[in-house]
Amino acid sequence: MATIDRVRLGRALAAEEAAFVLAHPRSRELFERARAYLHDGVPMSWMIRWPGPFPIFVDRAEGARFIDVDGHEYVDLCLGDTGAMTGHAPPATVAALRAQLGRGLTFMLPTEDALAVSAELSRRFSLPFWQFATTATDANRFAIRIARAITGRPRVLVFDWCYHGSVDECLATLRPNGSVGPRPGSVGPPVDPGVTTRVVEFNDVPALERELAFGDVACVLAEPAMTNIGIVLPEPGFHAALRQLTRQYGTLLINDETHTISAGPGGCTAAWKLEPDLVTVGKPIASGVPAAVYGFTAEVAHRWKKQTVNDLADVGGIGGTLAGNALALSAMRATLLEVLTAEAYARMLALSRRFTSGVLQVIERHRLPWIVNQLGARAEYWFHHRRPRNGAEAAATVDPALDRYMHLGALNRGVLITPFHNMALMCPATSEADVDLHTRVFADSVKQVLA
Ligand code: PMP
Repeated sequence: MATIDRVRLGRALAAEEAAFVLAHPRSRELFERARAYLHDGVPMSWMIRWPGPFPIFVDRAEGARFIDVDGHEYVDLCLGDTGAMTGHAPPATVAALRAQLGRGLTFMLPTEDALAVSAELSRRFSLPFWQFATTATDANRFAIRIARAITGRPRVLVFDWCYHGSVDECLATLRPNGSVGPRPGSVGPPVDPGVTTRVVEFNDVPALERELAFGDVACVLAEPAMTNIGIVLPEPGFHAALRQLTRQYGTLLINDETHTISAGPGGCTAAWKLEPDLVTVGKPIASGVPAAVYGFTAEVAHRWKKQTVNDLADVGGIGGTLAGNALALSAMRATLLEVLTAEAYARMLALSRRFTSGVLQVIERHRLPWIVNQLGARAEYWFHHRRPRNGAEAAATVDPALDRYMHLGALNRGVLITPFHNMALMCPATSEADVDLHTRVFADSVKQVLA
């Protein structure tokens, strides 16, 4: 079994950092100037999570590639952390946006595109009714509010190390003593999340039953496979148990498909024949134009309608002035009907298999104790010998120095992978050559640090 030489790793990382700085003078200059006006020099805090000492600034992008302000071209396997899973500037979406731009952007009135979009979503997810939001975070917040309203219960149940956006109830984690507390780094929680939230480990059916049996859980909000602490796949029978127990205890089940939409046109819900009460999707649903959707069963629609006081609907905690605006709807229509089609998925899944087997070959060649997980068009490697069963196991296996080195090594050779974890996503424009470039770069980086 091969191992990593930590001294070689330290030296290789320092060399990659020096090469990065040398190759990106313009990004560095922009970052230094930006620090005068932008907190930490970036428009949004996640943009400093990249492996170099400053982020690269983007000049332009098309398809699976982008070019930075220093003129370097990259194969983009991060794709805006799924926001650009459609590929950058997909021609069908760009054409739809161009057409809509000259016809008005937002009216607080519906446009005809809403019909095509909701009909297509119904077909894909087998849920009859849909509403729109501006971000996946909002869609999740609204889904939770609906669940609370119609069950009359206060709490939410989530899986340890989940991420569903900046939703207060979900920024919760299990403490070593089994109690619920704020997730590390959580900024200004309004209340102790133990008041609002029950947390169990993914794949832990007995714990799930124990917590649901309190009878105060309005909904379980879950990614069908966890993707935000790396990929953690459900064990056989887990989803059947989750559905059976939520039904038994009168708790609604919300599938957050914002990332797991990588599994297929109807996410894991369709691919694995799941039967959630509500589904949420954001990020790529409008090719990167801010937009999100949430869908629900006829029963949820009926129970919610009974609760709604129409006169107060505008201040009832659900909605949003720009939600379902004409521009976003035009982009969603093009995305669903012309970009993220079944044919596009077939290509993306084949590329993801190619990515997985390429990385596996390198791992096997060097007899490294590492694994690769695939979730449709998404794949990810772990520097660990065993597949994590849950969030806590996944969090414990992270190797920050090796992650940083592998990410920077790839970036310096023209391949961008998601800064959180070792995750790669295929888009309809990704090519076999793009995937093979990653495999070569991965192999070269590994060779530099073997013991
Ligand atoms: N749900 C999931 C599964 C996510 O991964 C994220 C963001 N990473 C969100 C929701 C929130 O998306 P947004 O930040 O666009 O609101």
